[in-house]
Amino acid sequence: MYLKMESLIKEKPSLAIEDKVFDEVIERKNGLPIFKAFIDGQWISTRDVKEIVSPIDGSVIAGIYRLSYEEALSALRNVYTKGRWSARNMPGSRRLEVLEKLADLMEEYREVLARTLVVNAGKPVRSAMGEVLASIDRLRRAPLDLRVLPGDYIPGDWDIHTLESEGIVRREPYGVVMAIIPFNYPLFDAVNKMVYSFLPGNAIVIKPPSSDPLPILLMTKLALEAGFPPDTLAVLNVPGKTAGELAASRYVHVVSLTGSTETGVNLIRRAGIKQYIMELGGGDPAIVLEDADLGLAASKIAKGIASYTGQRCDSIKLVLVEEPVYEELKEKLMSSLSNLRIGDPRDPETDVGPLIDKETADEWERSIKEAVEKGGRILVGGRRLGDRYIEPALIEVLDHDTLVKLKLYKEEIFASVALITPVENVDKAIALSNQRRYGLDAAIFGRDITKIRKLVRLLEVGAIYINEYPRHGIGYYPFGGRRDSGIGREGIGYSIEQVTAMKTIVYNYKGYGIWEYM
Ligand code: NAP
Repeated sequence: MYLKMESLIKEKPSLAIEDKVFDEVIERKNGLPIFKAFIDGQWISTRDVKEIVSPIDGSVIAGIYRLSYEEALSALRNVYTKGRWSARNMPGSRRLEVLEKLADLMEEYREVLARTLVVNAGKPVRSAMGEVLASIDRLRRAPLDLRVLPGDYIPGDWDIHTLESEGIVRREPYGVVMAIIPFNYPLFDAVNKMVYSFLPGNAIVIKPPSSDPLPILLMTKLALEAGFPPDTLAVLNVPGKTAGELAASRYVHVVSLTGSTETGVNLIRRAGIKQYIMELGGGDPAIVLEDADLGLAASKIAKGIASYTGQRCDSIKLVLVEEPVYEELKEKLMSSLSNLRIGDPRDPETDVGPLIDKETADEWERSIKEAVEKGGRILVGGRRLGDRYIEPALIEVLDHDTLVKLKLYKEEIFASVALITPVENVDKAIALSNQRRYGLDAAIFGRDITKIRKLVRLLEVGAIYINEYPRHGIGYYPFGGRRDSGIGREGIGYSIEQVTAMKTIVYNYKGYGIWEYM
């Protein structure tokens, strides 16, 4: 049984954004705040208003002005023709100052940013503030990104054909990065993509998620206040499909998408040859060895399963436990999960808030039903508490032939639910992990260095967390997927390589008498 807050919904959610700095962004119509789009260096309204609802109770909390394809394409063209040069021609030290100033402003407005995340994304208060603070941290760590920017010097005298010449390989910005943002970390993901794109001198066009675009629009205003050249930045309030069409235009050099694998596949098909960074679907395995600290493993795995109601790419979806400790770990994990509190995300005591929409809860329910019909057993949770509220579920499936056929194993269900099964050895754990289509991260709990070393060598994932649940954090350690989980890496000092082009410059001095060879 889970702990529940007294009432799932305390009162009707509302945004209450009073700070003067945002006056230019928000228009009020019949008491409802309508957020503008930012293009061509200005905040604009259009004829198309899309309602924005809160996952807390499904009520309308705001509207946003949406752009047509033509309006968005014209904005992109302006960034391509003018904005990218403004970014590139700004001294690097000044770009760093702008990012630092944005961190200061986000600090100043952290309460309103966190509140907007709670109401618009349904994120529990602590996690929402965590996302704001992570965004600030990311901005403050921007200088660390620069470690890969300097480039290379290649002396010519190692090859007979290049004697008396020398080469420099330098990096320069591609030009325009289109950042396509998922609903689950709208603020952090937009800030992160902004840091690594703008720092080396790219312009950036942000496509916010349709369900929770509001934190990004507020942050954009702060970025402008911080000194972002207005023509290097645009926020395109368009639906996903239109974003795919825009990405195909020649005005976009790099697409940085964080989203589902299906979106990634559609986008690449539509947009063709570009530079891509793709952080796609995941859902990670956690492997528990027989010598693990089971209390620690259980409490960390519970967080990995339930935090932000499982709406995290690095959420744990499969728990593989060595047979001798299976029963003990299972009991401990059930108990850790049951200690979580489900409720209104505005309540500071809440651990598990609502899902982003009803459709996700429907899918979660269907996939659990399928698992149970095929022989799975619900150990804890699994009940629907309302349109969007669910109890995180742990489902035991003992037969591995059944396990690998379940939707919960084959696909990423973006809500709190994990399968648990015993394994006879690490080889079986490796096989069950690698057979999934995703390869984002894995967690290993245990001490036996021989087993850990084998797992580390053979798991086909982008990151492995030992005695920790997978958590990408601010990307101090780089993360990213293999197989269907993506292309490239996000992380301090890593993504910058993917938004800059290498250019080789060869200087030939033959005959100028500079070199004298024996
Ligand atoms: P999503 O539905 O794929 O949407 C992501 C973004 O792509 C949204 O802005 C969406 O716009 C846009 N989009 C949709 N269709 C598009 C198209 N054809 N062309 C271009 N853009 C398109 O994903 P989500 O539900 O927001 O986020 C959850 C997913 O993101 C999960 O699969 C999760 O694993 C993944 N994720 C991965 C990482 C990682 O590091 N690997 C991190 C976070 C999340 P609309 O909102 O307008 O549809």
